Amino acid sequence: MIHSFMSDSYGSNSYLVVDKKTALIDAGIDSSRIAEKIEELGVGLDFLINTHCHFDHIGGNRLLKERFGPKIAMHEIDADAIRKNKKATLYEMIDACVPLTLVDIRLSGGDILNLGKTRLEVIHTPGHTMGSICLYEPGSRSLFSGDTVFSGGVGRADMGGDWEELGQSIRALVKLTEERGIETIYPGHGPADCGDSIEETYNTYFG
Ligand SMILES: [Zn+2]
Ligand SMILES: [Zn+2]
Repeated sequence: MIHSFMSDSYGSNSYLVVDKKTALIDAGIDSSRIAEKIEELGVGLDFLINTHCHFDHIGGNRLLKERFGPKIAMHEIDADAIRKNKKATLYEMIDACVPLTLVDIRLSGGDILNLGKTRLEVIHTPGHTMGSICLYEPGSRSLFSGDTVFSGGVGRADMGGDWEELGQSIRALVKLTEERGIETIYPGHGPADCGDSIEETYNTYFG
């Protein structure tokens, strides 16, 4: 069961994935509405997975950590980036401080988080940031794509990323679509879309 939330500012999406265990994919900037929903559902929060280290995806981490005590998971490259330099969160773009929280699980590509029948496979997709990840859920053939690829668009690569790497990462997602199928992409911003849109997007930007 997937519940979607859109952040009031910067329009970043969060996805609450509920099975025997519960995971939240990205925390937005203010996670108080997400916290209310978790309480209403009475499911707790086992994992909080950040697709990358930008403030509009991690700003709500601390509130949720304090309220529910989830294990916070992020790719090791982005975890190191924000530990070394807070500016990697791009917090200077907004007039607020982004409370940093410790990362409990340092992810690499190929890691799997089991929630029950639902499993989230970590795909390292550098480009938007060097530690950006997508999460693939094989049961529903869903891809949580963070800021790597949106419905009809791709992430910027000029804020700590690399355009060529981004192209290669999206190419790998096209291959994943061909080999294993992607029914739905749940992007970090904007509406959900069907998986076929990834190839069109690749061709538009990198073809
Ligand atoms: Zn971003
Ligand atoms: Zn974003």
